[in-house]
Amino acid sequence: MRAAGAARGAALAAAAVTAVALAVAAWRRARPVREVLFFPSQPCCIEALLAEAAEPGAPARPCPCPLPSGGTALSRLVRRLLSARRSLDLCLFSFSCPQLARAVQLLHRRGVRVRLVTDAQFMGLHGSQIGRLRRAGIQVRHDQHSGYMHHKFAIVDRRMLITGSLNWTTQAIQNNRENVLVVEDAEYVKAFQDEFERIWEEYNPANYIFFPKGSK
Ligand SMILES: [Zn+2]
Repeated sequence: MRAAGAARGAALAAAAVTAVALAVAAWRRARPVREVLFFPSQPCCIEALLAEAAEPGAPARPCPCPLPSGGTALSRLVRRLLSARRSLDLCLFSFSCPQLARAVQLLHRRGVRVRLVTDAQFMGLHGSQIGRLRRAGIQVRHDQHSGYMHHKFAIVDRRMLITGSLNWTTQAIQNNRENVLVVEDAEYVKAFQDEFERIWEEYNPANYIFFPKGSK
């Protein structure tokens, strides 16, 4: 009798622990992301992150390179980007980091709608990833003025804003002091999304002005 009572007590305690764990997990999931990333980031390997994103649940094939694969500012940034399921809007002055380009390309292949706004002068520089992304079929638009398109922000699924001082270049990622803020905040996301849509429309090639008014 006493043994049965003890067993029932233990079962109840286990159920209570499970319930608390589930509640904590749900709370963690529901809690909006607020993360700050500081660069420079030490060089890291993102093969495991890309493989997991390309084929979720597939057995991990460890990369033979000696670089750390997690815990760096770059790997955390890549993880946030790869969380995209529907859309990724990028507004980037300079984009020459091959690792970030691979992450963006992977999202495009996975059916995420990627749109990229960039700077006309910087997209032509040596090492720029813009050509590669265009060849992959990603929509790119750029400015038509002398002033720079100097923004550096990304919006994931119209839900998460990634913004800061960081240009998406390996040089900046590995050498510069930079900050990036990752927030799920509806107000901030809306402001940046509106700015993105404004720029996207302004840079629509159909709206280009080839011959300013008054010229013949
Ligand atoms: Zn590696």
